[in-house]
Amino acid sequence: MLRERRIFNDIIQKQSMQTMETLLRLHADIEERVDSIRQDHADWLCRMGCDGCCRRLAAVPRLTEAEWELLQEGLAALPSDQLQDIGHDMSALAEQPSRPYVCPLLDRSAGACRVYDYRPVACRTYGFYVDRDQGLYCKDIEAQMEEGCLDGAVWGNQDVVDRRLRDLGASCDLTEWFASWREQWDF
Ligand code: SF4
Ligand code: SF4
Repeated sequence: MLRERRIFNDIIQKQSMQTMETLLRLHADIEERVDSIRQDHADWLCRMGCDGCCRRLAAVPRLTEAEWELLQEGLAALPSDQLQDIGHDMSALAEQPSRPYVCPLLDRSAGACRVYDYRPVACRTYGFYVDRDQGLYCKDIEAQMEEGCLDGAVWGNQDVVDRRLRDLGASCDLTEWFASWREQWDF
């Protein structure tokens, strides 16, 4: 029985490592596209301090388990007072009836993501990728495009990213992931 459990745990661990590798490969591909866009457009709007997208979320962010595992590492590295604030904002977000939603991971005074290196895939593509049905998500970028300032940009394909994300497994609301993590640590 003990041996079977060990084998089972090894399989789970291996699967989870493979999923994480797949996620990190997706990150690398996104980063490559973003870098290439930035190379030709050094003054691209997305930068530290521009936080409109984090303040005007259309829905509570949804994350795959692999994305959440990574994000947890970022959260675990934060000082406890920040975690308390995030916990408070997460509970408020879970109860909020309608949009626009402000991401609880945003440092509102600095206009910066508190878990930038660990952020979900959607945050990495926003501003650089186009969705077949919804087009560009950011109105500021859209306005620049209409003015012709972004001519020549080769946008990333959001539909391909979404497909690759679906291959990683089911997604859950950020607030739900956080609530189960919080219960575990009791803070
Ligand atoms: S997507 Fe829009 S709001 Fe978000 S960082 Fe880029 S320019 Fe700013
Ligand atoms: S996780 Fe970070 S980058 Fe993504 S919406 Fe929240 S604050 Fe913005």
